[in-house]
Amino acid sequence: MEKDFKVPEGEALHQRRRLFQKISASAWDVLVIGGGITGAGIALDAASRGLRVLLVEKADFASGTSSRSTKLIHGGLRYLKNLELGLVRSTGRERAINHRMAPLRVYPAKMLLPLRKGGSLSPLTARLAIGLYDFLARVDRRDRLRMLNVQETLEWLPRLRTEGLQGAALYTEYQTDDARLTLDILRTAQGLGAVVINYLEASVPLYTASGRLAGYRLSCALTGAQVEIQSLTVVSAAGPWSDIVRQRHGQKTPLLRLSRGIHIVVPASRLPLSVAVYMDVPTDPGRMIFCIPRRGHVYVGTTDHYFEGAPDAPDVPHSEILYLLDAVNQQMSLSPPLGPQDVISYWSGLRPLIRRPGHASTDVSRKDELKVLPDGLLWIAGGKLTGWRLMARRVTDACCQILHRHTGKKYGPCRTDEIVLQDQSLPDHPDRDKFLATLEGWAAQLPDGPRRARELGEIYGGVAPRILNRAYELFSEDRMNQNPILAAEVEWVVQNEWAWFPEDYFERRSGKRFFNAPAVAEEVETVRIMMHDALSRPVSREN
Ligand code: FAD
Repeated sequence: MEKDFKVPEGEALHQRRRLFQKISASAWDVLVIGGGITGAGIALDAASRGLRVLLVEKADFASGTSSRSTKLIHGGLRYLKNLELGLVRSTGRERAINHRMAPLRVYPAKMLLPLRKGGSLSPLTARLAIGLYDFLARVDRRDRLRMLNVQETLEWLPRLRTEGLQGAALYTEYQTDDARLTLDILRTAQGLGAVVINYLEASVPLYTASGRLAGYRLSCALTGAQVEIQSLTVVSAAGPWSDIVRQRHGQKTPLLRLSRGIHIVVPASRLPLSVAVYMDVPTDPGRMIFCIPRRGHVYVGTTDHYFEGAPDAPDVPHSEILYLLDAVNQQMSLSPPLGPQDVISYWSGLRPLIRRPGHASTDVSRKDELKVLPDGLLWIAGGKLTGWRLMARRVTDACCQILHRHTGKKYGPCRTDEIVLQDQSLPDHPDRDKFLATLEGWAAQLPDGPRRARELGEIYGGVAPRILNRAYELFSEDRMNQNPILAAEVEWVVQNEWAWFPEDYFERRSGKRFFNAPAVAEEVETVRIMMHDALSRPVSREN
């Protein structure tokens, strides 16, 4: 989608300029560079400990890797392979904490792992590994492993090919929406006092006379304005751009090795699945891919190839699309087989892997790494979506130590495991499915109400009732309005979720670009008009 939308010279931009004056006149404890999940987590942790936090994102929030993942909050099963038992336990714990923090955003979903002769796991190793994992990660009883025989497996997945099939392991993964989880964390951080601004790049580091890092010059992508801010600590959480940030601090040797992973989306009618599947790639021993049903579609991924280009635009090679299609066709008997014409959308993301100094460039770590540069920049990269809270804790602990040296002030420990993310848990609706069903009922009086209300609930979680209430207001003002839900939704994302461009809405707020492509074609002009209007009007928005 092209960024040919011009942000109107209206109230939203006026407020943004006033905000720039405010941030340059303030003293900050922490400047966070990067509005992916890592930066968002740091902003939340730091704000919850009482630090004065400013977070800047050069494009849209979560527009980097944090909207291009497989969208799973993993339980750490993979760490069993190397017997990293401590990591299995802590990742399982993180998954449970994420679910508790946002039950409508991080929720359990069954995953089926077909077992075949000669595959990655035999029924015995699957039973031992996942059973041990359930024990170590203290997995809830209802989420524990069930081994299926061939017949039970085919009841779950009738189109699975039967050659060499020995049964399946049925276990639980937790699904999420990576971009929206990032936005939920940012909104919660903002509620605790953090200031978060997108389309504002940290472009030039600023130093004291003694050479200590003391702030940054920020460049606004919307107005061209330059703002200088002072901060006692500066954190880079720039994902695949982390080497570019290091260069600005005089560190020329790259530390990252980027690895591209793509996902493709096909209609559920072409790949009907009643459960998510994690399966071997028969032509590529040792590799496995996910097929995950979502919103009437199934997404399939991922690939893993080193990437050398600019991180802003990772490509989607046709060969990798064919690789995923071929893997599905080898596992599932589909008539006709899946082909490129079935692919309705795709995305490509970059894993910022850390090189091991002194080792070959292919020898990389998939863990996160925190470094303190000679000028004082705190630099964090690598890791997983799932580990965002632990990464944020390490970084915020380090910031607190530095601040203590500067100011003598003491800060409390990390308490993010006690936080409930804004609007992602509803006491009346602990069960996500029941919550979605209730929304359909609420919206019955609105044009296309039940269908749109379910989609709203899936996308926005606990924000959906507010959007529906606003839609009812708009509809009662004008009964001819055929799009009150869309109008309320666009108003919401502009006023409360920092959306500036139609693509912010279609890609990272609603995900329609990936999971409802026909709606994009149908709605794009209307959304442009609604957005222009919402950005022009006086509203109570932060930036
Ligand atoms: P990013 O999300 O890339 O955020 C960095 C941000 O910094 C960007 O938005 C960028 O615009 C901004 N930035 C850069 N420079 C500047 C600057 N100078 N000023 C201001 N802003 C700047 N993890 C899981 O746990 N589960 C999964 O299922 C999973 N699947 C994955 C699948 C794939 C294909 C990939 C690639 C990764 C997957 N991961 C998964 C890993 C996970 O997605 C990443 O670890 C995580 O999203 C990284 O977040 P981040 O905030 O560090 O980086």
